[in-house]
Amino acid sequence: MELRDHLLALLGPIAIGDPLAPEVRLTGASTELGLRLTFVAHGREIHVELAPAADGSRHAARTPRLLVAYRASDALPVDPAAGQALCALVAARIAPREDAVLAAIAADPDVLADAAKIREVEVARLLELAGAPDARFYTLSPYVGCLIGCRFCYAQSRLASVRRLVGAPPIAWGSWVDVRVNAPEILAAELATLPPHPIKFCPIVSDPYHAIERDRGLTRRCLAVIAAHPAPSPVLLLTRSTLIERDVDLLAAIPRAIVGMSVPTLDDDVRAHFEPRGAPIAHRLATLGRLRAAGIETCAVIQPQLPGPVDALADALASCVRSVSLDILRGEEGAAALFDDPRFAHARDPGWQIAQRAALAAALVARGVAVWDGELPSSLLPS
Ligand code: SF4
Repeated sequence: MELRDHLLALLGPIAIGDPLAPEVRLTGASTELGLRLTFVAHGREIHVELAPAADGSRHAARTPRLLVAYRASDALPVDPAAGQALCALVAARIAPREDAVLAAIAADPDVLADAAKIREVEVARLLELAGAPDARFYTLSPYVGCLIGCRFCYAQSRLASVRRLVGAPPIAWGSWVDVRVNAPEILAAELATLPPHPIKFCPIVSDPYHAIERDRGLTRRCLAVIAAHPAPSPVLLLTRSTLIERDVDLLAAIPRAIVGMSVPTLDDDVRAHFEPRGAPIAHRLATLGRLRAAGIETCAVIQPQLPGPVDALADALASCVRSVSLDILRGEEGAAALFDDPRFAHARDPGWQIAQRAALAAALVARGVAVWDGELPSSLLPS
């Protein structure tokens, strides 16, 4: 049984599309990045996330063993009263069932992870619907877990939370990967049946071109499936690796393929401090330049803001990308010690993050580079 099935069992006999209460309908369930249920409550789509009580994370309601929190599915804030009411409703629903379901999870050999760091797994589903109702897209993750292992990666705490819940031993972020060996076959089946939307590769749970992709080639095989479709979906691939150049032939075969490279600073000493396993900045920029020269649309992602020269970074990006996504630090996760270094301590300040983002935005716009802050660049949004 899949973990997602156990998650639905917490709600009792209810399926996607069923009402949980008047004006509250379950519309989705995902275990991709933590345990997430999606509802439309009084016309507003809201994600509800579950975590083990031992996590002590922020929550709006709780049961004896689980914390229940809410989050918007789009950029608009959720009315706190509505979010809390929904969490209270979900908590009341799952409380009588949680002992039985958590015991079933702990006893399920399909769910209970072994201690292996590189694990081959088969999945029944691959494409995850995401984004606001008027700007849907799919996320696609051939891998879960990332060997680049950025210390500030916010996937780590949520995935660690799932490991705790299923009773798997803790493993340091950056040292484990689930390899979804049947991802290309599942993707082909899903593309034949699901409504078309843009596909965003591994935006949060892995990097599509981390080291293991060199041997396993799952990202490449998934791209080949998309390219071979009679009407290839637009794709966005976000990475910190130059390995993506290997797949320029497939990217060129997909009419709307966009490559996004994380370039959080021009100072490679800063990069080495915060992202020691990511490619050097000069290599990332060179890759973007070569992909652009090959006719591929390119963009950059700057999140979080890291110290470094603003105008020189804007100059470098203007020469190799069409647009840049800018965002600020959203929690230090495992990077607190890196920000404790006196050379970089100022960068943890939210005021510095916001000012740096504003300065970069102005510098980029002055050079004719579009700036965006949502999930997709404008060329992939519905017109
Ligand atoms: S490359 Fe991306 S997914 Fe991998 S650790 Fe860094 S932020 Fe997380």
